[in-house]
Amino acid sequence: MTTPPTSGSDPISSGGPLVDGPADPEHDPTASYALEPDDVARLTSRLLATSGRTTQVHSPLDGAPLAHIPQSTSEDVAEAFARARRAQAIWARTPVEERAAALLRLHDLVLDRQQEIIDLIVLESGKARKHAFDEPLHIALTARYYARTARQHLDTQRKIGVIPALTRVEVNRVPKGVVGIISPWNYPFTMALCDGLPALLAGNAVVAKPDAQTMLSALYGARLLDEAGFPKDLWQVVAGPGRELGTPIIEQSDYICFTGSTATGKVIARQCAERLIGCSLELGGKNPILILRDADIEKAAEGAVRASFSNAGQLCVSMERMFVADQVYDRFVDRFVARTRAMTLGATLDWGNDMGTLISQDQLDTVTAHVEDAVSKGARVLAGGKARPDLGPFYFEPTILEGVTPEMTCFGNETFGPVISLYRFHDEAEAVARANDGEYGLNASIYSQDGARARELARQIKCGTVNINEAFGATFASIDSPMGGMRESGMGRRQGSEGIHRYTESQAVGTQRGLRFAPMFGMSDEAYAKMMTTSLRLMNKLGRA
Ligand code: NAD
Repeated sequence: MTTPPTSGSDPISSGGPLVDGPADPEHDPTASYALEPDDVARLTSRLLATSGRTTQVHSPLDGAPLAHIPQSTSEDVAEAFARARRAQAIWARTPVEERAAALLRLHDLVLDRQQEIIDLIVLESGKARKHAFDEPLHIALTARYYARTARQHLDTQRKIGVIPALTRVEVNRVPKGVVGIISPWNYPFTMALCDGLPALLAGNAVVAKPDAQTMLSALYGARLLDEAGFPKDLWQVVAGPGRELGTPIIEQSDYICFTGSTATGKVIARQCAERLIGCSLELGGKNPILILRDADIEKAAEGAVRASFSNAGQLCVSMERMFVADQVYDRFVDRFVARTRAMTLGATLDWGNDMGTLISQDQLDTVTAHVEDAVSKGARVLAGGKARPDLGPFYFEPTILEGVTPEMTCFGNETFGPVISLYRFHDEAEAVARANDGEYGLNASIYSQDGARARELARQIKCGTVNINEAFGATFASIDSPMGGMRESGMGRRQGSEGIHRYTESQAVGTQRGLRFAPMFGMSDEAYAKMMTTSLRLMNKLGRA
């Protein structure tokens, strides 16, 4: 079924499709897909997993068995850290230019291998191919950004010394050591890799524990890092349930980068606090989108579809609450509903589906429960509203609800599925207040033709990112900008300078010449205090920092 690798020392560089799936829209949507055992073995050989146990994973496309994944023990975690520490000691002395060059090779590799990467992502997650493409795209963007800005973030920087000309101060960026990365299943390739790239660039090693449902995409990423020239032991991968491997990872890490649910994030934060190690937490959201009265209706309706149904809503930054100005409500909702009903639905490997399937029975159960609860309490379904077992075992239609009220589960709780609730608003202050309701603060979107007005409103929204006339891509794909949550949506930021500085300790080195910080030449303490006071007043007069 799979095209075997043709040549070369690296078994994943076959250049051919990893999976022989249907290539055209005429294919049989019920056909089952499988990975060859050799493909699975090549990927899982990158794991440190000696328990002798395996878990079977299934493809959400059709529910068929996909692979057996070897499971790691806490001894494997300890071995992973030992290897990573040895590799990191050497890597930290490797010039930044060499580290950056490896990232640029990764950039090209990811683009070259995108079809294989996307095959794996779709097989493991069930998402539409066009949404899977976002993952190699995001890794390429991240790799190139950090490679090209490495010196800007990592070079030693001169700071203002306390005594001009006599105190020289500079700040070094020292790698933390070994970073533990715990990642979720929803973007299995990029979430497993993207946060690790700045960690490596800054001179760290990584021990990664991807989600159990999507190990293969993460392992493919690890293989690409090897191929790009990163020392193999620098990036360790372990497999197993988070509640078993999480604690040993946290106990041995110098920093934790976690992406997942708010509930798990709090457990992890407590354990990190116990060890006084830093952590960044990228957590859940209940993201609001505002359609202002001057929005371009057609563009807003198109954007609203992507905002709500990308990756079947299993996207931390996708929208679940839509506030629409009274003046345009009917016109906008007509267009949004029409566009949603016209979506091509399917759970297959080929291009052409506008939305894929949910990943699991758990996800389907949550989404079904949220919609049934809302409908039973009086919400109206304007589009979708039901599971589609004819398309896939966990498929749920893109769903638009109206009339959602606070006693309904989906009012304030993250559904993490293709369900959006519509609300009408009368004035913009009210819309902002309602957008700020609740405990989350991850991402927001505003549609308006008045960019300046929209940016002014953005400042009032309690979210880590706000996208104007776009759902999430404007910030998420601009790697120079920080990305993360306020309130219960997280702590710390990925991307930009914050996304790399979190993996470093800043070390200040001060060199003093001439004057010392004590009375000199027989001066009394009192005279010294007076002299310093006069100097401070003078510095203030001169406008010095
Ligand atoms: P989850 O918290 O259950 O799992 C995420 C990861 O944590 C998995 O690798 C899991 O094995 C591990 N884990 C689980 N329990 C653990 C524990 N006690 N100790 C250590 N690790 C543990 O999250 P999920 O439900 O699988 O993922 C969906 C959630 O992730 C949603 O809430 C979504 O909004 C959020 N998310 C956030 C972002 C972001 O960037 N803010 C991105 C993607 C997903």
